Amino acid sequence: MKHRKACVKVFVCAVLLAAPAYAHKAHEHGAAHMNLSVEGEKAEIEMEIPFADLTAFEHAPETEAEKKAVLNAAAILHDAAKLFVFPAEAGCRPTKVSLESDIAGEELLAAPGTRGGAAKHGEEGKKERHDDHEKAEKHADLDAEWTFVCRNPEKLRRIEVALFKHFPSLQEIDVQMTTPGRQGAAELTPQSAVLQW
Ligand SMILES: [Zn+2]
Repeated sequence: MKHRKACVKVFVCAVLLAAPAYAHKAHEHGAAHMNLSVEGEKAEIEMEIPFADLTAFEHAPETEAEKKAVLNAAAILHDAAKLFVFPAEAGCRPTKVSLESDIAGEELLAAPGTRGGAAKHGEEGKKERHDDHEKAEKHADLDAEWTFVCRNPEKLRRIEVALFKHFPSLQEIDVQMTTPGRQGAAELTPQSAVLQW
């Protein structure tokens, strides 16, 4: 009985873990989703971005050129202070960035300067080529999280989202925000890329 119970739990976990991957299939190119939460001195931003808007393809990177495209996109996404412009007087600085994707491993998405050695890279490459066959016709996203800590959070009343400048095929970001002065939805475009509250 004890064993059976454990199996049921494992099954439920497997289904829960698999669910986000399926949810990612239906996405619209050019449109990203963002959650902004500002509480106390902390501002947290989560985004789900179609992989195609970062690299112009959305299969596991195979060629050197494709791997380089992922490394370049990751380097931009790790440069948090360039993607999100905070009011200078709020004194906000990025403290954490994390990037994840079903089609690109840690060795491509890690912050520049922290990536693993060449041997690991080669092994991972084989795995990616295998996955590529299965995912050739599917969509893929990149999930990103940025954390900022602000010295004067009471001065934080706006954030300019500068992703559009770095990834020009991105045309729209649907935002859910929870801040001291505003809760709810907002939509950003290249022409209107500032969140205020
Ligand atoms: Zn897609």
